[in-house]
Amino acid sequence: MDALASQKQPVGTADRGPAHLAPDCAELNFYALDRGLRDLLPIYLGDHDFQALEPHFDRLGALAGGQLDELARIADKHPPVLNPRDRFGRDEDWIDYHAAYREMETIAFGDFQFHAMSHRAGALGMDRPLPAVAKYTLQYLFVQAEFGLMCPISVTDTSIHLIRKFADPELQDYLLPKMLSGDVATFWKGTQFMTERAGGSDVGAIETVARYEDGEWHLYGDKWFCSHADADVALLLARPEGAAPGTRGLALFALPRRLKNGRRNAYRIVRLKDKLGTRSMASGEILLEGAVAYLVGDVNAGLKQMMEQVNLSRLSHGVRAAAMMRRCLNEAMICARSRAAFGKTIINYPLLRRQLLKIALPVEQSLSMFLFAAHAMDRANAGDANAALRLRILTPLLKFRACRDNIPVATGAMEVRGGNGYIEEWVNPRLVRDAHIGVLWEGTSNINALDIITRAVGKSGAHRALATTLEGLLDEASAIPSGFRNHLREKLSCVLAFAERVAAEPALEADARQAASALYHATSAVLMIWEASRPGCDARRALLARLVLEHRLSARDPLAPAGGGWEDAAAELILAERRISLAEVSGLLG
Ligand SMILES: Cc1cc2nc3c(=O)[nH]c(=O)nc-3n(C[C@H](O)[C@H](O)[C@H](O)COP(=O)(O)OP(=O)(O)OC[C@H]3O[C@@H](n4cnc5c(N)ncnc54)[C@H](O)[C@@H]3O)c2cc1C
Repeated sequence: MDALASQKQPVGTADRGPAHLAPDCAELNFYALDRGLRDLLPIYLGDHDFQALEPHFDRLGALAGGQLDELARIADKHPPVLNPRDRFGRDEDWIDYHAAYREMETIAFGDFQFHAMSHRAGALGMDRPLPAVAKYTLQYLFVQAEFGLMCPISVTDTSIHLIRKFADPELQDYLLPKMLSGDVATFWKGTQFMTERAGGSDVGAIETVARYEDGEWHLYGDKWFCSHADADVALLLARPEGAAPGTRGLALFALPRRLKNGRRNAYRIVRLKDKLGTRSMASGEILLEGAVAYLVGDVNAGLKQMMEQVNLSRLSHGVRAAAMMRRCLNEAMICARSRAAFGKTIINYPLLRRQLLKIALPVEQSLSMFLFAAHAMDRANAGDANAALRLRILTPLLKFRACRDNIPVATGAMEVRGGNGYIEEWVNPRLVRDAHIGVLWEGTSNINALDIITRAVGKSGAHRALATTLEGLLDEASAIPSGFRNHLREKLSCVLAFAERVAAEPALEADARQAASALYHATSAVLMIWEASRPGCDARRALLARLVLEHRLSARDPLAPAGGGWEDAAAELILAERRISLAEVSGLLG
């Protein structure tokens, strides 16, 4: 860090901030600050793992609010640079990263070993792989400081998953020891190149060809969006010569950056994209000029295999959106509690309180949703078929809705900070820029909504498995007034019926997003009242559930006032800095 000292900015927490201007969250512990997360972790992770892992959550929370946040700010201002050739004119392309980015890599891959933590023992001193709930919680804390690097971290993790599951033993022996290593200087990072100019959503339009020449596969083509462009091994789709058109003819390959003899493989990073956000991370275009690649798994099941990586990425994207939204809320709250205007601290103004509630609601929904989805993954990995179906639908639901919510939440938090929120010295502009990518990569909103309605609901019936679990949670939440629970139960069954109808009637395809949103909201509302009913959990989550019910799942008269009634009392409790008891909220649950 010494070399970077000249670029450091003074932090802005309350005691050190200049007069008048509100502080930001610099140097706060993002784990300690997150009451919702701390309440929910023992529920979703279990007491034993929670006790073992809490010191690591706490340490990462402190890093995220401190050193990582500072490094992320610097890396965002110093994006990677492509060097296409060396000084001898050889196409030995490489990418230069700022030292701040490299330091974040050391924390992520060396210290925490994010990429390997759910594949082997040893990360964070654990004698077994970490549960999914723990892994995604750590991602959630990390991303509150740095978003761009989470792409290489996650895609290395998911590449390892695919290689372990589908590659033949020889290929596994070649790649996995390198990819699972915790030695930052020598280990191999992974990535995924799918998109081409002809097709992003329309994967079947991929034009890259694989030719079997001299006993090896060689790839020829042009990949248009390649994040983590200089990864050591990329998983990609290509069409073996003569294979069927469309998605059926695609095979999955592993493309090493260097060959076994140490020479550079025959592909070039042609240029890097000049991006709106994720600026710390290199996304490029790649020209495949006969590059050697290894076939992964069944030559006829390329897309099916690749979809496992896509789904894991989608879950991580939902978690990243939840993380960025949490950072937005924390920034908005610290600002609202200290900035004064017209003689009052701004949090005391009714309009600003309404704004804060609008930010807080999707933040807390996404927290419940990602923990519930990660918990389903843990259960599915243990062989629970019902949990696997739940995960099937929860993954695109989280990706779709949380990534969409991230955009207005980031803008809302910027507005709470006023003009300073627009100035690049503060974190808000980066949060606004980074928020937008979530609705693009790993499937746009439309593609995810269609996956939810057409496939997860229409073909797999995954919504039924989800509904069974949610109904069980409603029964368990007996501490919540039964009238409210019954209301939610009825709403849930209407939402399920709507989703089934949209899935069954092709003429209703344009309603897929509306149906997917309704599923997300109903699920999150049930989760939040169940959580509020758990011993030791803050009961404000039940009020948030009612807000979801009233604002996201019910018709409202736009000309009828919402203020002056239960919502004002609910806002008082939701925005309070203290723990809220069930007794305080029961009267407000309608
Ligand atoms: C910064 C960045 C990094 C990326 N990194 C990678 C990477 O590492 N690897 C990778 O493989 N890809 C990557 N991508 C590509 C990304 O996944 C695609 O851009 C995305 O899948 C959309 O594909 P497209 O750009 O071809 O848009 P299109 O598919 O052309 O979509 C255009 C519009 O049409 C809509 N649309 C398409 N089909 C339908 C339909 N059936 N019904 C309704 N609407 C439809 C879409 O929703 C969208 O609004 C990256 C993209 C960006 C911006």
